[in-house]
Amino acid sequence: MAKQTDFAEKAKKASQEKGVKCPKCGTVKVPTLFVQSIRSAHGSYRFNQSSVQICKCNEKQVLA
Ligand SMILES: [Zn+2]
Repeated sequence: MAKQTDFAEKAKKASQEKGVKCPKCGTVKVPTLFVQSIRSAHGSYRFNQSSVQICKCNEKQVLA
């Protein structure tokens, strides 16, 4: 019984992680690694990596 419950919870979590729907546009959000280059005051570049959830609301802003 315990094993079945664990499996059900894991499956539920997996499906939640895969498809988070945006309440605004109804598109499933896709986690995308977004890299920004930031120029410091010394003239060198740093890269800032972040994971962004992209849906139709922000895809143009992020991918432009
Ligand atoms: Zn959206």
